[in-house]
Amino acid sequence: MSGIKKIASLLIVNRGEIAIRIAKTASRLGIRTYGLLTAQEPNALYLEKVDEVVDVSDDLSGKVFLNIERIIAEANRLGIEAIHPGYGFLSENPELAQACKENDILFIGPSAEVIRLMGDKEAARQQAELAKVPVLPASESVVKDATEAGRIASEIGFPVIIKAVAGGGGKGMRIVRQAEELERMYRIASNEAQSAFGNASVFIEKYLENPRHIEIQVLADKHGAAINLCERECSIQRKHQKLLEEAPSSYLNQQQRKVLGDDAVRLCRQVGYDHIGTVEFLMDDAGHHYFMEMNTRIQVEHPVTESIVGVDLVEQQLLVAQGYPMQLKQEDIKINGWAMELRINAEDVQTNFAPDFGVVEKQAIPACDYLRCDSGYKAGKVIPDCFDSLIAKLIIHGKDRADVIEKALKVLEEVQFEGVKNTVPFFKALLNHPEFVKGNYNTSFLETQLTKPYWVEEDEEQAAALLAMQAYLNHIETVKGEMLEHKQMSAWKQSRQSMF
Ligand code: ADP
Repeated sequence: MSGIKKIASLLIVNRGEIAIRIAKTASRLGIRTYGLLTAQEPNALYLEKVDEVVDVSDDLSGKVFLNIERIIAEANRLGIEAIHPGYGFLSENPELAQACKENDILFIGPSAEVIRLMGDKEAARQQAELAKVPVLPASESVVKDATEAGRIASEIGFPVIIKAVAGGGGKGMRIVRQAEELERMYRIASNEAQSAFGNASVFIEKYLENPRHIEIQVLADKHGAAINLCERECSIQRKHQKLLEEAPSSYLNQQQRKVLGDDAVRLCRQVGYDHIGTVEFLMDDAGHHYFMEMNTRIQVEHPVTESIVGVDLVEQQLLVAQGYPMQLKQEDIKINGWAMELRINAEDVQTNFAPDFGVVEKQAIPACDYLRCDSGYKAGKVIPDCFDSLIAKLIIHGKDRADVIEKALKVLEEVQFEGVKNTVPFFKALLNHPEFVKGNYNTSFLETQLTKPYWVEEDEEQAAALLAMQAYLNHIETVKGEMLEHKQMSAWKQSRQSMF
């Protein structure tokens, strides 16, 4: 078939569970997989799951997953035909896509031009407007200085949110409720954007109080076909980072589901999108939706979609990147039951979710057909202090939402992660919360609902988790100086914050 660039080898430029996830599908498709052995994690589990290990442990910078020159050099040296970036790291860096193209290596993602366009939140917003996808009121372009920020914010009306154009991982974002706070917040957001992304540019958008975060999984190919694979709800967040995702969303009716799906596909067509991707929306109380951003890569939460639509998204990535026309049609996408993903992080809920690390002494996952566990670890492996804190993703599939919650609680009782502090107690509290059970939650849920002393429970661990959360929330209320908080955060801790 013309236009097909068939690959037989793949370098996975990532680590942890996603490296394993990618290797699994690639091997099934008969593709030889290569993983990077780093100085920080020489005994990592993912190295046992790839066909070949590429030793880059001479690089002691801790940044080899970000080193485009080195990655391309290794791929060229070994004659590897394709590179999969996973999520985080270089997955949305147009320079890697460009370097791959120049070296005749297939990049498993969209083109550098599309990554650049959609990676710029302001430019992506403009594309959404052109595609007639609703957006929130916002500055027309990058805000030059604090004075301009003040003028635009008063036009839009408070509250507003200042956002880094190059943003990700919730960084470079500040909510402003009063004009007096604007100048200071502008400075903080811009400085944070400079240090996190090397780009200080910010824009201003209307801040929606208590929205739901609902995103659409899209799939497009190089032949002009584009479909949506239903939504995921990701409103359970802490510091703008997702903790639990589910699909479908209990907030959408069939008609809204179709409108959001159609909008996401229209945006894909507008930008000539030809890969898998995610179009993120915020929804207000009245059921209106607004485009927020597009992610041009595989998402952490992709398994909930895979569970309900029965499509292997990594396989689709590999196929469309090679130029195969998509076999799936919109009418093939049917929702089968319900799924939730619980991100078990190595964090101590009793000390404000402080990251933990060390040896995994025990990791026992119950064997049941409704549970999928994607983990980068097993007993004996070390959780290093220099990467993100994800230990495992528990994905539970059931016939409906109530069934999934019941099953998830059973899993949480049985699952064992020993050796490092983890967020299992947090999920026990969350999945027992009556409002969560009703599906009645939004992005402020953790700050508002879990502070209430509703929890009458004998389980000390769970009670302690709630008390810790209460203490954390009190703490952020009193520590208004966000600058102070930022300054106090050590470089070590900042480097641990995930970018996805
Ligand atoms: P990042 O790329 O840093 O992850 P996003 O643009 O995806 O940032 O936003 C992350 C989260 O921040 C959203 O899920 C939502 O909770 C919050 N958020 C972003 N923009 C707004 C807004 N305009 N109003 C209310 N909340 C917002």
